[in-house]
Amino acid sequence: METEGMRELYDRNRATFVVENGIVSCVHGDTTDRWSTESLDGASLLCFLEEMGGGGYYDELIELLREGCSQKEIETSIASQEGGTVNLTIHVHVLSPGYAIGIIEDRTRKVETERELARTLKSLEDMKYALDQSSIVAITDRQGRITYVNDKFCEMSGYDKAELIGGTHRIINSSYHSREFFKKMWRTIGSGDVWKGEIRNRARDGSYYWVDTTIVPLHNEEGKPVQYLAIRNDITDKKRNEEKIRHMAYYDHLTGLPNRRMFDKQLKEAVQEAGRRPERFGVMFIDLDGFKYVNDTLGHLIGDLLLIEVGKRLATMVAQKGIVSRLGGDEFAVLIREIEDPEQMKELADRILKGFDSAFIIDDYELHVTGSIGVTTYPESGQDADTMMRHADLAMYRVKGAQKNQYHLFNVHMEESTGRLFDIQNGFHKALDTNQFHMVYQPRVNPDNLRIEGFEALIRWDHPEHGDIPPGEFIPIAEETGMIHAIGEWVLHEVSEQLWKWRRQGFSPLPVSVNLSPNQLLQSNFVTKVLSIFQGYNIPHEWVELEITESMLIENEAVVKSLLSRLQEEGFRIALDDFGTGYSSLAYLRKFKFDVMKLDRSLIQGISEESNDKEIVEAVISLGKSFGMTVVAEGVEEEEEMEVLRGIGVDEVQGYYFSHPVYADQINNMLLTKSMKTGR
Ligand code: C2E
Ligand code: CA
Ligand code: CA
Repeated sequence: METEGMRELYDRNRATFVVENGIVSCVHGDTTDRWSTESLDGASLLCFLEEMGGGGYYDELIELLREGCSQKEIETSIASQEGGTVNLTIHVHVLSPGYAIGIIEDRTRKVETERELARTLKSLEDMKYALDQSSIVAITDRQGRITYVNDKFCEMSGYDKAELIGGTHRIINSSYHSREFFKKMWRTIGSGDVWKGEIRNRARDGSYYWVDTTIVPLHNEEGKPVQYLAIRNDITDKKRNEEKIRHMAYYDHLTGLPNRRMFDKQLKEAVQEAGRRPERFGVMFIDLDGFKYVNDTLGHLIGDLLLIEVGKRLATMVAQKGIVSRLGGDEFAVLIREIEDPEQMKELADRILKGFDSAFIIDDYELHVTGSIGVTTYPESGQDADTMMRHADLAMYRVKGAQKNQYHLFNVHMEESTGRLFDIQNGFHKALDTNQFHMVYQPRVNPDNLRIEGFEALIRWDHPEHGDIPPGEFIPIAEETGMIHAIGEWVLHEVSEQLWKWRRQGFSPLPVSVNLSPNQLLQSNFVTKVLSIFQGYNIPHEWVELEITESMLIENEAVVKSLLSRLQEEGFRIALDDFGTGYSSLAYLRKFKFDVMKLDRSLIQGISEESNDKEIVEAVISLGKSFGMTVVAEGVEEEEEMEVLRGIGVDEVQGYYFSHPVYADQINNMLLTKSMKTGR
């Protein structure tokens, strides 16, 4: 390899001249300080030779000039201008009688130049060695034929040199990259630029490996690429990690199906595609009916297995026609690309529903679940991804609200009739921002002396269009949409602020109970969050009671138990709400020590001295007391109910009989007397 620098070295130590009729002219030289021919232009040949140390050859040269055709090489030495000697070689070419041209070369320098060249070659060797150690190296000719590969190349690809040299890189092509990818690469290096990129290759044994690749074109004298040097580094591990992360981000960990994020991405792509050429596609929302029951009764392990099986069955039914995704919980979605007309989606929905006919066998259980399906098609029921999803959701809710195990194709009228649901689903943020929520408080009263023992805090939503929306309607939706976190936090803030106000107004503290939703309790840092909220208002924890329902414990027993214990250690009281509905499993009463048991209204309603219910309630009350719990009866509306409950030893009563839930300032009057005189 000859570098620019070396060529320069050669040029710099030469001088050329012309001899004509005994006179030296046209002296040119890129000589150095050590020797110079500058002053010799126009000198006689004799003088010139003497200056260059070759005076002794004068006669011989005159003879040659006379003959008119010959050449002569003369070696001389002269004193260097810097001291020391300079060894010169004078080449003389006699071209015609009396006419010659000549070149003088610095031999000393030439030796040095050669040494320098050797040094350069050595460092190139070193570089090559280092490169070979660290990288996969290949050189190809202009046509892409491999002319050199190093050992690492062979190691990585599993091919030996003989198999590779003379062939092209097609041998390790993994068909992963598009033609356009390689075309672009060739365009870049073909025009002499360096190309960098990541390439997936296939080794001889069929395995894939990723290389980070730099291709450097090597140029000829005209600057045209004649060879390509490819330096690659193995990044298979890095790629695998990336892939893993991608998989985690885009696939559901339980079922392995694409997750919501992936589904959204695909749906957006479908919309974009369809915008380019007239194309139809369909979306399906599938919500399982009866899944919660399985989860609650058989535990979430069985629930998880069931979801996996449902996912598999859906994937088989949809097969190549589209993608099945698990959006979360027991919600699945299907995207079918390229449909002819909406009928096709109906057929598929029918088939999916039929698919639910046969039971899922999990462990020893034969489980039956069905699905409620909402269907939308592009472009009929939405022109963008969000609208399509929203409409599929609406259509699905239509089924849920009615008969279940059915499908519904979205139509425009649906949106109007489901407007309320839609407004609730989408109104939470605004409600929080514009103070549409407020809290009301309902007293809990000691039936013996009618003293107020505490309050339950209940949320209210005053919706600008729909008026009062009861919490029983919007809380489940907030749980589904995840908005319960923000709302739950707002409630805790509100209540602690109210406690702070009462304290500032000089009322001695009465405990207030707050309802917690399952999801809320399970959010990360819940305990820390609660602590910091009450600390912010400097509220002693004894004033706060947290109400949870049994279903929370059933679903996540271990986690919930430890969370509740921590809260109790911090001084909060924990109440078991709605006892008497659902399972009322005694097992939970044994496993976790609640401070309060709240009997559901359904147990209390219509209770009288004569009714059989009285005995049941009495038994439940003594059971609760035996576990050391304060027993509260909820939903007490009638005087008779109150009397009976007092008779059988209930600790506190709460209900319309004493007071509806009311605004905080109305509570102030009650706090002044701290006792409820009589009802309504
Ligand atoms: P809950 O915890 O069982 O609350 C008691 C419900 O019974 C309240 O309904 C209350 O207004 C009602 N009630 C009280 N006394 C009587 C009575 O004598 N007769 C009748 N028929 N009803 C009575 P509300 O306020 O509509 O709340 C419904 C449910 O919404 C609550 O049931 C609770 O589960 C949930 N909820 C309310 N506020 C919140 C909250 O801030 N956060 C959470 N997560 N849930 C809340
Ligand atoms: Ca409650
Ligand atoms: Ca309750």
